[in-house]
Amino acid sequence: MQNSRSSQLFQQALKSIPGGVNSPVRAFRSVGSDPLFIKSAAGPMIFDEDGNGYIDYVGSWGPMIVGHCHPKVVEAIKKAAESGASFGAPTELEITLAEMVIKAVPSIEMVRMVSSGTEATMSAIRLSRGYTGRDNILKFSGCYHGHSDSLLVKAGSGLATFGVPDSPGVPADLAKHTLTATYNDLDSVRALVAANKGTIACVIVEPVAGNMGTVPPQEGFLEGLREICTEEGIVLIFDEVMSGFRVAYGGAQERFGITPDLTTLGKIIGGGLPVGAFGGKKEIMSQLSPAGGVYQAGTLSGNPLAMTAGIETLKLLQEPGFYEKLEEKSKFVAEGIAKAAKDAGFPLYSTRVGSMFCGFFSKEPVYNWDSAAKCDTKAFATYFRGMLEEGVYLACSQFETAFVGAAHTEQDLEKTIAAAAKCFKAL
Ligand code: PLP
Repeated sequence: MQNSRSSQLFQQALKSIPGGVNSPVRAFRSVGSDPLFIKSAAGPMIFDEDGNGYIDYVGSWGPMIVGHCHPKVVEAIKKAAESGASFGAPTELEITLAEMVIKAVPSIEMVRMVSSGTEATMSAIRLSRGYTGRDNILKFSGCYHGHSDSLLVKAGSGLATFGVPDSPGVPADLAKHTLTATYNDLDSVRALVAANKGTIACVIVEPVAGNMGTVPPQEGFLEGLREICTEEGIVLIFDEVMSGFRVAYGGAQERFGITPDLTTLGKIIGGGLPVGAFGGKKEIMSQLSPAGGVYQAGTLSGNPLAMTAGIETLKLLQEPGFYEKLEEKSKFVAEGIAKAAKDAGFPLYSTRVGSMFCGFFSKEPVYNWDSAAKCDTKAFATYFRGMLEEGVYLACSQFETAFVGAAHTEQDLEKTIAAAAKCFKAL
């Protein structure tokens, strides 16, 4: 694979951008190579600056569920841009997307738009604190909720990759209010709740963990969280920035039938443009400024281009059979990769929820961060580079999720499985 132009651009970027990238995982550090610079994308494919094409399972880290440059989304964005990129004033588009989200997501009675998933979770936490009058929050190790101070404690995603449990720059006085429990372990939650009785504002959880690889909730885990939070007057937040409109139209809460008090969204609802949202019970949401006293704001919140891309994407997701087809494709490719590993005698623990999947390089089951952390990340790095050579673009870390989209064809999926088979044999 020829990648001289990517290498040249990376060297240039290093001079003006810290680490050469605008978000850490993009740097490919954990897989021992330099990042590819991407020039364009179409459907299931992305193309780098050297003209190489790859079947894409990153999908911009989740948003591109209908594929890149879907003609209806592109057309709508173009049209919206001609009417103005941003007004800083209310628009009808915001109501349209809000109503679509409210109709889709069981827990959401009112919703506020923001510009990223980080803003959504940060604001949901502030709202929970304001609503309950309590300071502590509870999260799970290996779950990632964006990069706000309170949530950068034992987080997944890039922090997991770099082995940095807590970022420098987060004041200890603030971090001490973040309690960390073990994913899929209700006893760890009960113990923290008992030891901090009456002080916990919210429990925030990825209902399908996607930032330590894909880790499904075990039976009873989400139900148990719901029960504990109801009993203790704690606000239950499902962070569905990744799983929202991904594992079902109504997200993980629809798929598993558990309703949180607040939900955070992002990624898919912006159709590839910068967006986030948080919503939930009217009683809690009406505490937000200007209706209530909890302050939250944004220059570009409800941006007309992002709203338009979100509306068009959601319309496509409503087409009959969309999620059934996606499920079939995802099952086919995830099971195909798992079989390829088995045939090659390579230990792989395969997980999948809808179109989120992961192959953990581990002999043991993975169900929380400690079990995920035991994976053979060196072998993963070799596999990742091999897959890239074969024209398959995976997330550049063991602790991320692969996303299947509607644009992936049967041929793409078969090619991916064949590439995996070759790479596992070579390991
Ligand atoms: N929450 C979850 C579950 C995420 O996966 C992410 C990003 O990957 C975020 C929050 C943060 O979103 P953003 O990167 O848009 O700030």
